[in-house]
Amino acid sequence: MPRFHVLGSGGWVPTLARQTCCHLVETRRSLIFLDCGTGISRLHDPMFRAILQRHRRAIVLLSHWHHDHIEGLQALPLFLSHMSVTVAGPGRDICGESAAAVLTRFGSAPLLSEPLPHWGERFAGGFSIVDLKPGKNSVDGERVDVIAQPHTHPSAGMRVRDVTYITDTVERPESVALAAGSALLVHDAWLDREDAVAGGPETLAHCSAEGAARVAASAKVSALVLTHLNPRYDSVRLERMFLEAAATFPATHLGTDMSSLQFGAQEEETIAPGAATVGSVGDL
Ligand SMILES: [Zn+2]
Ligand SMILES: [Zn+2]
Repeated sequence: MPRFHVLGSGGWVPTLARQTCCHLVETRRSLIFLDCGTGISRLHDPMFRAILQRHRRAIVLLSHWHHDHIEGLQALPLFLSHMSVTVAGPGRDICGESAAAVLTRFGSAPLLSEPLPHWGERFAGGFSIVDLKPGKNSVDGERVDVIAQPHTHPSAGMRVRDVTYITDTVERPESVALAAGSALLVHDAWLDREDAVAGGPETLAHCSAEGAARVAASAKVSALVLTHLNPRYDSVRLERMFLEAAATFPATHLGTDMSSLQFGAQEEETIAPGAATVGSVGDL
């Protein structure tokens, strides 16, 4: 059964409790990362070390190019050197330039010893960078359905293996259509009710927890994980935000680093996502 792990549930800046956005969908065929923020550092944990050793194929799907979603890329050779690694992010059709071009800038001298697109030697199974475009994509054999999203710079919503990942965007009907019937929706919950009602520029780039819950309810997903949580909020405020969301969509989980959730896919070894239902809920 596929498992979903939260490695980093925060946005912008890591806190003592939360690293920045990174999630892992563990299937028998491959490890699929949803964003690669500082949460990648959770792979130091012995449980994840054991998972890494069982796999030879990793796919890293990036929602967009903001630093809190890509800072962990520099750690990929540390954790995934024994694998084939494919990094896929919004390309020309979404943000006006290819993923390889963006990552060349990210890693240009003197920021990294070698730009990311030249990392082929660092992974035993090879390394490639591919563009995500709106619609159906095939990333190293995995079907990934993608929508372009409004944000301060464009971001990509995506659905892979019956998990829909929507972050760094506002509440949108397009998200409902993409997520329809998913086993799991992982959704941006940057704002609480107070900040959402107050308005301001962040409401044009992010969603509230209640908005995420409305998307989950409309899409009739089996479970919702709130992610990209705001480092300005303390645990009391986050708990209140969680309760606000759960009032609309009871199967809501507040994203917590190092928590896991198991869900059952109809055809685990099928590359295309099949209908799935949530199996047993772990410690989310
Ligand atoms: Zn972000
Ligand atoms: Zn962003």
